[in-house]
Amino acid sequence: MDEYGVLTQPIRKELEDIVGAENVSSKTDDLEKHAIDESLEPPHPPHVVVKPRSTEEVSEVMKIAYREKIPVTPQGSRTGLSGGSHPLQGGIALSLERMTEILEIDEENLMAVVEPGVLIMDLHEETEKLGLLYPPDPGQESGSLGGNISTNAGGVRGMKYGVTRDFVQGLEAVLPNGEIINVGGKLVKNSTAYSLLDLIIGSEGTLAIVTKAILRLVYLPVCLVGVEEAFPGFPELLLPLRGVRDESVYSAHLEADLSSGLEILLDLSLAIALDPDKQVRGVTVIREGLVQVLFSCQDCVAGNIFEGEWDHFSSNDL
Ligand SMILES: Cc1cc2nc3c(=O)[nH]c(=O)nc-3n(C[C@H](O)[C@H](O)[C@H](O)COP(=O)(O)OP(=O)(O)OC[C@H]3O[C@@H](n4cnc5c(N)ncnc54)[C@H](O)[C@@H]3O)c2cc1C
Repeated sequence: MDEYGVLTQPIRKELEDIVGAENVSSKTDDLEKHAIDESLEPPHPPHVVVKPRSTEEVSEVMKIAYREKIPVTPQGSRTGLSGGSHPLQGGIALSLERMTEILEIDEENLMAVVEPGVLIMDLHEETEKLGLLYPPDPGQESGSLGGNISTNAGGVRGMKYGVTRDFVQGLEAVLPNGEIINVGGKLVKNSTAYSLLDLIIGSEGTLAIVTKAILRLVYLPVCLVGVEEAFPGFPELLLPLRGVRDESVYSAHLEADLSSGLEILLDLSLAIALDPDKQVRGVTVIREGLVQVLFSCQDCVAGNIFEGEWDHFSSNDL
């Protein structure tokens, strides 16, 4: 007996009845597109691509797949770098790309409720319009939030804020048998029993399919400036990072480029933003044991985090 079931025409018809015939495809173009991500892995085409629009549709699809032992691989934007969204066993590529609604941005409670196919860049845009920030910022802004959560994506703001896990308050998810569960919620104090939330975050679609997420927000920084430095070695790199963690500094993008060779040169590019309530305090960067006051917010021409206009300084200018 085969380990997996075969996706027959009657089963395909059942899937079409759930999501609509136009959202079930086995066209060559679609199979090729959904066979890859951004990794270097060879393609693994599914037998069929299915695009549900709601949690209920995901649930119904999963019930059929479970009954028929058909493998299912959830897919977000397929920007992953490790082949996690490759349908290794064929079967169903379950693309969440139609579930793209930002359901709520709750300014009072600093939370956003999103569907899994929302792109992180779209959430950033919408929250920033309201003076709020969703801190996780993995390098690929076209990644979906469902994919970010399922990979526990990090990114350049991780040094200051942490990773995606630190901003997920609640999830709705569909289990392999089609059961819909809710874990966590729109509350900060949630300390009872096992943290199924944490189990699902980073599980790469192996335990459940994320169909809704409640995400924590913070306030946007008031200004953003950049400091570009070259550091001769790792210890020297670590020193200014203490400044980043200083409570007066709100946010940091940190890009370190390690060039090859025995003499390692670290090019550290640091973008610092100030807390809204810390405008008058200077930003300090500790380097080689010295504390340098680089600028105060009043002196700096505020860069604009939305438009990416950063003012760059080096220590020679200061
Ligand atoms: C240029 C570039 C820079 C990048 N920089 C970073 C970075 O700085 N930090 C970082 O962490 N990553 C980075 N990545 C990797 C990638 O962007 C992230 O892993 C991102 O979180 C993947 O999101 P996605 O929507 O593309 O997910 P996909 O690639 O589609 O899927 C990733 C995994 O999540 C699963 N999955 C997707 N959606 C769901 C869902 N709704 N429910 C359950 N499982 C699901 C898939 O099965 C797969 O296992 C980068 C990628 C590129 C191309």
